[in-house]
Amino acid sequence: MKRILAVLVFAALCALIGCASSGASSASSDSSTQSASASQSSGALAAESSGSASQSQGIDYQVLVNKLNPLPEGWEGVLETVHMTNSIGDDVEVEKKAYDAYLELKAELETEGVYVDLDSARRSVADQQRIMDEFTKEYGADYAKKTVATPGYSEHHTGLALDLYLIIDGKDVVENEDMIKYPEIWEKIHAKLAGHGFILRYLDGCEHITGYGYEPWHIRYLDDPAIAKEIMDKGITFEEYKSGKAAPEVSYDYGNSKLYTKEELEAAAVQVKCEFATFEGCELHNLRYAGDECNTKENIDWLNSLDEGANYTQVAEFLADFHTPVEGGGAWEADTEMKDYQWWLARTENEGWQLVNFGY
Ligand SMILES: [Zn+2]
Repeated sequence: MKRILAVLVFAALCALIGCASSGASSASSDSSTQSASASQSSGALAAESSGSASQSQGIDYQVLVNKLNPLPEGWEGVLETVHMTNSIGDDVEVEKKAYDAYLELKAELETEGVYVDLDSARRSVADQQRIMDEFTKEYGADYAKKTVATPGYSEHHTGLALDLYLIIDGKDVVENEDMIKYPEIWEKIHAKLAGHGFILRYLDGCEHITGYGYEPWHIRYLDDPAIAKEIMDKGITFEEYKSGKAAPEVSYDYGNSKLYTKEELEAAAVQVKCEFATFEGCELHNLRYAGDECNTKENIDWLNSLDEGANYTQVAEFLADFHTPVEGGGAWEADTEMKDYQWWLARTENEGWQLVNFGY
């Protein structure tokens, strides 16, 4: 029982951070190399020729899937994948063209003495739902939602997101904390991505845009070297490329808190930014910590009263200035600068922040 739970916790953590480390890959019964699967209409992808122009037959290789944009409906019905077995013996499932491109990338890297393998690629929505259900049953819905990525909202569902691991001097280097120690190797890998239609997906310092911290191993296939090159050359996120503009400059002020470290306040700000990202058309100008004075018993009690079953012990308030959509939209008055908009976060000491309330 304990072991099953440990594996589940591990799997959920992997699901949450978007990338798996070693060991917990789904043990599919089919681990033969190159066996096609999940293809209901054979040859459907053959029609796919010019980027995302026509989606009636196959998948959109430039689809954006993140914490705000789910996997498009019908995706799993037309996705064509292959299975491969990595050097550890795990079965890995990958979208067909992405796998071919990966093999070319891998071969080119080997000419430079860089060796990689695939840690994980496709995870089905059902797999993710299964993890969510297990967690809900075991720990309750609140904890499950905090810990497990929402089924349908992981880029790994597409089959186009690949997590690499390194092979150094013949040894598998699979754990994230080990892989991160080789920036010079990742640099060589990243330089070759675009030529094969891949981009680096989760850039350093862009968690507020992508929803994920830096993951040098998580690459994404776009099936178009020209687009991949444009994104990699500009050093922008896929979100920015898709929206057609760079994310506006936002200024942050974390003040001089005696209660929280800058890292803790940054983690709180990420929650605010993720929520703000759903304020369609609104442009964030600045975000600032309101100060330790907000951590009163009164505020703690108030936020506990808003969140059933919560047992928060600490509060952080942020203030934001932002602009509403120029044309208006939703409940917003058009083209208005909103000042000192309040964001209330709470946590139980040493746990993650929850955004509990926002508004005036
Ligand atoms: Zn990943």
